[in-house]
Amino acid sequence: MKDRFKRQGFLGEAGQWAIEHVRVAICGLGGGGSILAALLAHLGVLDFVLFDGDVAEAWNLNRTITLTEADIAAQTLKTDAAERRIKKVRSAARVEKNACRWQDRPEVLRSCDLAFGSIDGFQERDELEKTCRRFLLPLIDLGMDVRTLKGHRPRMAGQVILSMPGEACMWCMGFLDDEKMALEDQRYGDAGDNPQVVWALSHLASSAVGVFVDLLTDWTGLLRERVQLVYRGNEGTINPCRRLPYVSRECPHHPLDQVGEPRLRAV
Ligand SMILES: [Zn+2]
Repeated sequence: MKDRFKRQGFLGEAGQWAIEHVRVAICGLGGGGSILAALLAHLGVLDFVLFDGDVAEAWNLNRTITLTEADIAAQTLKTDAAERRIKKVRSAARVEKNACRWQDRPEVLRSCDLAFGSIDGFQERDELEKTCRRFLLPLIDLGMDVRTLKGHRPRMAGQVILSMPGEACMWCMGFLDDEKMALEDQRYGDAGDNPQVVWALSHLASSAVGVFVDLLTDWTGLLRERVQLVYRGNEGTINPCRRLPYVSRECPHHPLDQVGEPRLRAV
């Protein structure tokens, strides 16, 4: 299909080549992950690895753009729905479906060049970041939440974070902390039915893909090695976190000598 990508020609031939040769994992194919799958297919990505063990449920339809009403009746796997959407746009794409949690097949995650995280909860994010660091994978995480304090309007917030091996991590950036982990523990590790809406997730997924393209092609020349974008849903803005320039570049949480599979030793 000649001229297919001419409208994104400013990324350069090498840029488009990189997009078409990167092996991308998407962990979680609910709202954010479904939008990522569609956007990446349009962008030209050809090598997808998908992780999600869930089937379509009625309450997914408000935000999971790969699903239809028929999928709810058929209890379609989210991985199948995402593959269908990808292939309709990019028939040449290779899609490796893992209808399970990414934790169940770490060796498959390891075979990727980069991972997107669109998952619930702080503890799972922490686990995914730890695993990506061990495998030296860049991780682009996105997520949102809505908080309602008594007597106030709901406040919608979200984030896109690029976590690069050797750079500031989600702990360094202050996105993960002991208090959030402890609060989640009190709820038995269940992130619960957090509010999730299609317009906020679309903002976040689009910004995440923007970070991905820049990382692969360096079309802006900014060579961003760490990114923390803060979404304020009530205002409809997404901006770089103002604290990030003051965060140390040395990450004490994931030393670079701790890479590869964890090895257990009898003592
Ligand atoms: Zn750190």
